[in-house]
Amino acid sequence: MPARRAENLLIHDAHVLGRSSSLRVFLHPARHSLLSSPLAMSSAVATPAQELNQRRPSPVDKLDAAYSPLPQKSDKATGLDAAVGVSSIKPTDVPSDSKIPDNYVSYTIANQKYLPPVTWKNLLQNIQWISFLVLTVTPSLAIYGICTTDWNTKTAIWSVIYYFITGLGITAGYHRLWAHRSYNANAPLQYFLALAGAGAVEGSIKWWSRGHRAHHRYTDTKLDPYSAHEGFWHSHVGWMIIKPRGKIGVADISDLTRNKVVRWQHVNYLSLIFLMGWIVPTVVAGLGWGDWRGGFFFAGAARLCFVHHSTFCVNSLAHWLGEQPFDNKHTPRDHFITALCTVGEGYHNFHHQFPQDFRNAVKWHQYDPTKWFISIMHSIGAATHLKRFPDNEIKKGQYTMKLQELQEQSEKLKWPKSSSELPVISWDDFKAEAKERSLVAIHGFIHDCSSFAEDHPGGAHLIKRAIGTDATTAFFGGVYDHSNAAHNLLAMMRVGIIDGGMEVESLKRRPAESAASSVTNSPVSSASASSVDVASLPDQDDFLLDQTQLNSQGPKPAAPFGQPQAQRADKFTLSVPPSERYRIVRTVPEIRPGLLNRVHTLDKVTRADADGEVAEFIGEKA
Ligand SMILES: [Zn+2]
Ligand SMILES: [Zn+2]
Repeated sequence: MPARRAENLLIHDAHVLGRSSSLRVFLHPARHSLLSSPLAMSSAVATPAQELNQRRPSPVDKLDAAYSPLPQKSDKATGLDAAVGVSSIKPTDVPSDSKIPDNYVSYTIANQKYLPPVTWKNLLQNIQWISFLVLTVTPSLAIYGICTTDWNTKTAIWSVIYYFITGLGITAGYHRLWAHRSYNANAPLQYFLALAGAGAVEGSIKWWSRGHRAHHRYTDTKLDPYSAHEGFWHSHVGWMIIKPRGKIGVADISDLTRNKVVRWQHVNYLSLIFLMGWIVPTVVAGLGWGDWRGGFFFAGAARLCFVHHSTFCVNSLAHWLGEQPFDNKHTPRDHFITALCTVGEGYHNFHHQFPQDFRNAVKWHQYDPTKWFISIMHSIGAATHLKRFPDNEIKKGQYTMKLQELQEQSEKLKWPKSSSELPVISWDDFKAEAKERSLVAIHGFIHDCSSFAEDHPGGAHLIKRAIGTDATTAFFGGVYDHSNAAHNLLAMMRVGIIDGGMEVESLKRRPAESAASSVTNSPVSSASASSVDVASLPDQDDFLLDQTQLNSQGPKPAAPFGQPQAQRADKFTLSVPPSERYRIVRTVPEIRPGLLNRVHTLDKVTRADADGEVAEFIGEKA
């Protein structure tokens, strides 16, 4: 721990411990003198810099090997950087979004002023020339070099190696370490990644992470610096070449301002891109095997061009190509080709769902060299606190997407008519109509089997035998225990519901009542019709059971022979459409609003309401 940082922690402790004088005797003499010193105590509230000095490190800071709450000498720009006026980053404790209003996104998008759209006329005024030159001169140099330089295998291998080194600087460093804090790195690894990332010439860690955090926070909106909704080329390079039309969304990077590696890289950035982007690849090939020209054009220009477009693909290709196995609310997608192009950043749908996970690819066989690199660094002790989202939460995302897919499939299928759409027919009418066409009653529903009888796998004679009867028992295993497919097919033949759900003797039309119409179109389910009918049975004498009809119910309704099987079958077959099933579940808790009103309409003498029900019904005693 640097001496200064240790001192900072001590001063903080002084505030906590110094209140109790009895504690002081346990302190180290040096610490004791620090506590006793009026200077130490008074310095705590003196200046903003000193205030910062005695701040309590956040959990993130405590784990950061490059934590440094005060500017260092090395944070000042020198040489080339000083000459172009690079200013240092001031460490701050105050998050840039600490006062963000709740309606920030909608308000900002609706109210901020956007520049007019880019046309051929105003194109030149809208070009960001530095990015434009970097992104056009580099490939031009690469093409010229490839056409004019002799092939050297060593240089070619070195170019590929340096492509991976600088690529990892972006993916393992800029992206997963600094933008997302998906693990912690010791100081040497941080300096290595900062240098390697500078070799990719994509801006400083601070600038890059600021934009990337906004990208995650406002994905696909106008506050996203490289929103995929603006088109493939905008998210690939357009956002760098053309001046942004509006301001990007706020994203806090105060933690990065307290990291001395980030500050150091930022103030020396210009020197570092020349050193790491051009000088190192050239010098290694030149001093190593004398191929200075190849080093410059292959490991320098061509390699840089590949690194650029490989990492830009994370913003474009990864929001355009592939599947969405974890969430489809936004554009990010998973694809092996994107992973190949981007040093393993291709599982972008996963990444946007679980951005702090140090992995992009969760499966062992998926290509993610950045994850492998971090794991190796972890095994040698350079990386610690690798973050993984709980497997349970990851699987929930996958499960939700599968459900959604099933729902979409279900919407494309034809479902049987639900009980509320079918007419309720009396047993006698059913029998009468069965003389005209092949009607069979099964499980309370009337099915028209006219067009199916000849195709019945068991033979047409079995269907013909069942016409005009209740074949529930035969269908549910009595003659043959039908398959799920048979249940589904049968349900599609529904044309009506038997009043009472089955053959009920008391509901049969008596001669005196024959004049009255018995066909109703009331939208009641067979289940509710059944319960109403049983309750309204006139008396016991009228209730004569037909012994041949197994599915009839007496005054105490017993589950008919076939019913339990039928209910079980319904769970696994699709004879009830999913929407219907959902509707039934939703209406189970029945609310009876009339109940409370009865209290006020009780007769004062009899304590009974208009229907003659006494007050005990609602628990009130006379
Ligand atoms: Zn993205
Ligand atoms: Zn990210």
